[in-house]
Amino acid sequence: MSLKSFLTKQLGRVDPRVIAAAERSLKAIPLVDAKVQQEYAKLIAEMEPAAKPYQRDFPSFSVIPKTGRAREDVIGEMEALHEREQARWREGFVSGGVYHGDQGHIDFLNRVYAINSQSNPLHSDLWPSTTKFEAEIVAMTANLLGATPENDICGTVTSGGTESILLAVKTHRDWARDTKGITSPEMIVPATAHAAFHKAAQYFNIKLVRVPAGANCAADVDATRRAITRNTIMHAGSAPSFPHGVIDPIRELSELARERGLGFHTDACLGGYVLPWAEKLGYAVPGFDFRLAGVTSISADTHKYGYAAKGTSVVLYRGQGLRHYQYYTATEWPGGLYFSPTFAGSRPGALSAACWAALVTIGKQGYMDATRRILETAAEIKKGVAEIPDLRILGEPLWIISFASDTLDIYRVLDFMSKRQWNLSGLHKPSAVHLSVTLRHTQPGVARRFIDDLRAAVDHVRSNPDEKGGMAPVYGMAATIPLRGMVSDLLKRYMDLLYRV
Ligand SMILES: *Cc1c(COP(=O)(O)O)cnc(C)c1O
Repeated sequence: MSLKSFLTKQLGRVDPRVIAAAERSLKAIPLVDAKVQQEYAKLIAEMEPAAKPYQRDFPSFSVIPKTGRAREDVIGEMEALHEREQARWREGFVSGGVYHGDQGHIDFLNRVYAINSQSNPLHSDLWPSTTKFEAEIVAMTANLLGATPENDICGTVTSGGTESILLAVKTHRDWARDTKGITSPEMIVPATAHAAFHKAAQYFNIKLVRVPAGANCAADVDATRRAITRNTIMHAGSAPSFPHGVIDPIRELSELARERGLGFHTDACLGGYVLPWAEKLGYAVPGFDFRLAGVTSISADTHKYGYAAKGTSVVLYRGQGLRHYQYYTATEWPGGLYFSPTFAGSRPGALSAACWAALVTIGKQGYMDATRRILETAAEIKKGVAEIPDLRILGEPLWIISFASDTLDIYRVLDFMSKRQWNLSGLHKPSAVHLSVTLRHTQPGVARRFIDDLRAAVDHVRSNPDEKGGMAPVYGMAATIPLRGMVSDLLKRYMDLLYRV
């Protein structure tokens, strides 16, 4: 029996604690470990063709070529690769991924990048233009998310949502240590919060307390209250969450934090550049930003619905005092007096320039129009999904639509959709699939095509209940087996594969 079927068929029924203990002792037995390693190698080999599609048709390099290649050859090669890869995202088959993608917008950002390609904001004396762009990106984002002349909202530009969240967590950790003497910090997040919070807890030695989502996939306020201890430094909510597009009860969560003197982070990586416009368009948007007194930090991704090039996000704080806990300074280093606001030292100033250029050329009217189109397309898709028997939409999302099934294997529906070119996100706990609607899906015919294909997928899975193959067993395994260590090992092997020439 293969590891895959063994894991899914046999272990799914056993008590997770027994399995965890068994896993540890099993792996200590050399023969078992060797067998497991063999099975990993087999699984990885199966994944190789899809992960490494260019091994045959394109030259590869594991040493630097002796003499440099012709620039035009390299450009030609990259254009050929781009040609193969662009159709799927351009034609709207991808969940999230590329959020704007109109050629005119891309060409403009590329010109802005080219002008600024040498800029490094670490050298603020050489490129004060980049400093200006970054200050204004932060100010414009703060203004959008509830800054007033009184509440002293400030922040920094970061490389992405993950860095924004990592920084907000580190900042609150250092704040709590300094102002409350907490040396064994704990952080509470809803189970639906982004993986970046787990990463932050791991990196910064913080105990992570995960609270299962309540009704409708939203954070459970009472359970959060019960999880608070003397060592809690902060908790968090999403507006909306990545998996289900559900906006947590930010008002209640942040008020709880305020009462207890804790930090509270709103993860508006997805919603920061959608919800403010949705509110102006008349959609019912619950409070999530700095207008709520208990919110102490917010992350908002400019490289998602801000329509900037990949590589920028904004983290905001209530008060410059809090932001100081994010900054790094070195006063004793022989290299001179050194300071950097975020994790990186040198940074790509051109990406900040492109972000600034996106914000000021799209403008409020452009963002409102884009948001209206996205929300109207999402409404059409939601209606279509709701009408398909056997499917059920999770929560009450605005534009990230996740669906599950009580009667069919949803991962087999996902497999069928992949055969029709769709690149959707497989979710687990609970098993589901989602589509994050972007401007790509607002093109004529895309929503219709999605609903037609999804209906065909459900019909197919319903009438072929015993079909084998595809990715469904792998998703199924990740969703059901309690062997976290093994799944984690497998993911590490997969990353090793990605780095193989
Ligand atoms: C995308 C996302 C993040 C992480 O952002 P990256 O830019 O991928 O690092 C965090 N939270 C939510 C809700 C997101 O959607």
